[in-house]
Amino acid sequence: MARFDPAAIRAQFPILATGPDGKRVHYLDNAASAQMPQAVLDAVIRFETTQRANVHRGVHRLAEAATNAYDGARAAVARYLGVTPDGIVFTSGTTAAINTVAHALGETLSAGDEIVISELEHHGNIVPWQMLAQRRGLVLRALPVTAEGTIDLTALDRVVTKKCRLIALAHASNVTGAVLDPAPVAAAARAMGARVLLDGAQRIPHGPLDLLALGCDFYAFSGHKMFAPHGIGVLWGRPDLLAALPPFLGGGGMIEQVTLERTTYATPPRRFEAGTPPIGAAIGLAAAVDWIAGLDWQAATEHEKRLTGRILDGLSAITGAHVIGPTGLQGRLGVVSVVLDGAHPHDVSQILDTHNVACRGGHHCAQPLHARFGVNGSTRASLAPYNGDDDVDAFLAGLADAAARLR
Ligand code: PLP
Repeated sequence: MARFDPAAIRAQFPILATGPDGKRVHYLDNAASAQMPQAVLDAVIRFETTQRANVHRGVHRLAEAATNAYDGARAAVARYLGVTPDGIVFTSGTTAAINTVAHALGETLSAGDEIVISELEHHGNIVPWQMLAQRRGLVLRALPVTAEGTIDLTALDRVVTKKCRLIALAHASNVTGAVLDPAPVAAAARAMGARVLLDGAQRIPHGPLDLLALGCDFYAFSGHKMFAPHGIGVLWGRPDLLAALPPFLGGGGMIEQVTLERTTYATPPRRFEAGTPPIGAAIGLAAAVDWIAGLDWQAATEHEKRLTGRILDGLSAITGAHVIGPTGLQGRLGVVSVVLDGAHPHDVSQILDTHNVACRGGHHCAQPLHARFGVNGSTRASLAPYNGDDDVDAFLAGLADAAARLR
């Protein structure tokens, strides 16, 4: 097999050629937002310049073209995930998807019911459950995290009780890169009659997924982390479950019949899509899915793994650098968070910026996880298939510089 060529992939991403000031950026902030290839930009521009209209409303030709394109985007995402389109709810992102479940499923829960999350969740998979727990008198419980930065599944027996109604966990951590094995989680939930929601925001950009094999009931993700525009995301729900849930947001587009006294609701997915949806962004997401499907993921995964190994090896040579999370290559993605002794992650990121390296410094919306490790934040490098050895080397050089200057 030909060696994987990240430069050929990078050439499809205009922003990676130029950067904000004309200098090439070593873009290692993919876990925050990945970049968009020309194919996605073209699809959005094509829609906005030849088909733009509202959907599911008008009968003129532009409206029909827009509706067909939007419904086609849903079908494309469903095909990619191996599911039916009636389970694909377009949202504005992972956070909106999780909030939708928190409200819709939340309506069916009673005081004393329990929800289980973990200590490594993104705030987007913590705060909606805390708010729901407050609204309805629920109990929120958390699985602990191991020293290796993975969810401690040995605690499932203790934490998941008969009162559990939902287990909501990250499929992959946005800090440690650890990937969850959902099978024991699904088994524990089934034993108690609970549902499973997986937050797939970080897993989804790293190649095809057999969604139905995961054993979950809900799966949430964001387009902007998978080479699509901002403002679009997906809540996948088992169609029978979605059909049994009440809507979250009310308004146009989600109704069957409205009188001044009462409303009956459309069937899912439209029941959960009130108001004008992000139409162009959904079309961009479909183009991103096609683009992803065209990559050789076996080679891309090997490539990301090799680069992750290069980062981990390089870090072991920097005095005072500690990785939060797995120190090996098994069961993890190319997301590596580092603590530099005595240095604030914002300062580290700023020094990295002077090396033209873009990566995230802070708590990455995962304060409880950083508290678990006794730190306020970390500096995170996160990979995409367009990253190469030169990006990693620039990151390591910048980090060594930061270590020398800040300690
Ligand atoms: N969950 C995880 C694991 C994430 O990494 C993120 C974003 O970083 C989110 C949820 C929230 O995604 P969004 O801001 O796109 O809604």
